[in-house]
Amino acid sequence: MSDQKPVITSQKSGVTQIWSKTIIPTTREAPTDAEVPSHILLHRAGYIRPVGAGIYDYLPLAWRSLQKVAQIVREEMDAAGASEMLMPALEPFELFKETKRDETYGDNLFRVKDRKGRMNALAPTHEEVITDLMKGVLTSYKQMPLNLYQIQTKFRDEARPRAGLLRCREFIMKDAYSFHTTVDGPGGLGETYDKMFAAYSNIFRRCGLSFTAVEAESGPIGGSASHEFMVNCESGEDTVLKCEKSGYAANVEKCEIGLRPLPSKGYFAGDPSGPLEEVHTPDCPGIEDVCKFMKVKPQHMLKSVLFKVESSPADLAKFGEEYILAVVRGDHDVNEGKVRDLAEVSGLKLADPAGAIAKGFAIGFVSPRAAVGKKGVLLLVDRDAAISFDDVAGKSKFWVTGGDKKDFHVKHFNWQRDLGKDPLASGAQGDAKGGVSGTDEYMHVGDIRNALVGDPSPRAEDSKLIATRGIEVGHIFKLGTKYSDAMGLTFLDDKQAKQSVIMGCYGVGVSRTMAAAVEQNNDKDGILWPAAIAPYHVLITVMKPEDAAHMAAAKGLATSLNAAGIDVLVDDRDERAGVKFKDADLVGLPIRLTIGDKAMEQQSVEFKLRKDTAGKGELVPMGAVVEKCRVTLG
Ligand code: ATP
Ligand code: MG
Repeated sequence: MSDQKPVITSQKSGVTQIWSKTIIPTTREAPTDAEVPSHILLHRAGYIRPVGAGIYDYLPLAWRSLQKVAQIVREEMDAAGASEMLMPALEPFELFKETKRDETYGDNLFRVKDRKGRMNALAPTHEEVITDLMKGVLTSYKQMPLNLYQIQTKFRDEARPRAGLLRCREFIMKDAYSFHTTVDGPGGLGETYDKMFAAYSNIFRRCGLSFTAVEAESGPIGGSASHEFMVNCESGEDTVLKCEKSGYAANVEKCEIGLRPLPSKGYFAGDPSGPLEEVHTPDCPGIEDVCKFMKVKPQHMLKSVLFKVESSPADLAKFGEEYILAVVRGDHDVNEGKVRDLAEVSGLKLADPAGAIAKGFAIGFVSPRAAVGKKGVLLLVDRDAAISFDDVAGKSKFWVTGGDKKDFHVKHFNWQRDLGKDPLASGAQGDAKGGVSGTDEYMHVGDIRNALVGDPSPRAEDSKLIATRGIEVGHIFKLGTKYSDAMGLTFLDDKQAKQSVIMGCYGVGVSRTMAAAVEQNNDKDGILWPAAIAPYHVLITVMKPEDAAHMAAAKGLATSLNAAGIDVLVDDRDERAGVKFKDADLVGLPIRLTIGDKAMEQQSVEFKLRKDTAGKGELVPMGAVVEKCRVTLG
């Protein structure tokens, strides 16, 4: 099985590099903007140097590691039946106009004007280029399924390039694109997606990384149509929510919440906490300001977020709604994907203030009441916001919400009394899932907020969600016909009828994976490379490089190691032992072999694992050292 592939095979001979013949500029100084271990260590150990914000030189050690990551990616993609190719990084801007990504990609898209004044883009990914290519070469259903990939430089003008190679403006990615006639069944998108899931699991396992595959926001075609592969790491940017009982893991954007207990009186039912009172709240732009001003906790606020439906005309005709008002508790965050799914629309975006104001919404001061009596507005209420009686406190729920006019809020809001329409009359008691049935469908109750630590698991009873952090190194995605529809990529089916090609896309951040490996594997002295992606497996430290016999022994040993498939770096520098050992730890190769006087006398070398920081190393006879290294590296 490919995930058990040995790191070392004698079928491929290793290479030797001499330290003084290459460039490994180790330094004690960390970059001033460095916040995370991989940035500090890759710089200090002489792997990378900054060229500009989010732009780096990959020095020889880094390049070797990157090549090893890339090779593992390549082998697993090839084994999964994909073919490698290469597309240009420079792309005519018209392609991005066809998919509207010239607008939707926003400022992250690098725009380049050429000498003729034409606009081009530096590719952030290649959906447009490959879809355009396929339009010329993919005609019959017989050519599919097809999966093409490349390993190439990508450009994104990130708002905040940071953390060294983790978030760059120029980085290396493997991106694959698959093409299908169907979603399900043999040759369908689902089958390739599953193969890519397995290939990605193999890739990150072979790289020696501890990772979690998490459900991610799935976009237009719904279901579990997207997974992110996260390297488990406390310094990671992404929060992963997990249920330990069922193994369910999802990122915050996607994570479902298990059933929250229904309020004992049902949704919305219960007496007011007091008479409705209007409060003048000038100069309070955010929820926190209002809370401070009114001396209430955010969990007593109702936060109303207005979305505009961005659906196809067919969807609009079907559902009618143009706006969705999503209401959550003030200390919760609205989850856009969940709003989209509960409303059953294919797309939405935050309402632009001008349009919303014209429709009668006092943006910044909107309450749930604003949805009532307006045509084309759907009101969605999160379960934690849809209550009037607080079972935990044993009394009426005290709510503050917007006053529906500038600079005003109201307190003692009560759903039944103040909404302007009794929610109970519409059958809004809610079913077990919290959905609202009934004839009047202007409002729904459901799960529309981001999950939090401690929320009930959606997959196991009596289990709560816990949070861990991770670094996203891979992302697989069922695209459906998003790009083929936008760009007109069709095929003729067996009845000669034209159909849109169904696509998937699959990315691995090659340079980010290398940095994530360092992020997960380091100590106070430096990097601790997983053997499979270390630039070299063994460092031979020569204590007296000026002694020809010592250098000859080192080179002889290196040759034998190479023959066994082991890559070797020989430290021949005329430096003090302390400097060499410090650098050895910093650079982080898995095995250090030291050749000194004592070892030479006894025809042996000192063998030391990088990860054994306490041990002094053991003397191993010269004749046995290659085998010992081979067995250790696996
Ligand atoms: P993020 O959420 O971290 O910005 P993304 O979801 O936009 O990433 P994708 O479009 O899914 O990224 O790209 C595929 C892979 O490329 C990611 O999983 C990640 O490993 C890598 N990647 C994305 N952006 C960067 C970047 N700025 N620097 C380095 N690697 C990146
Ligand atoms: Mg992603």
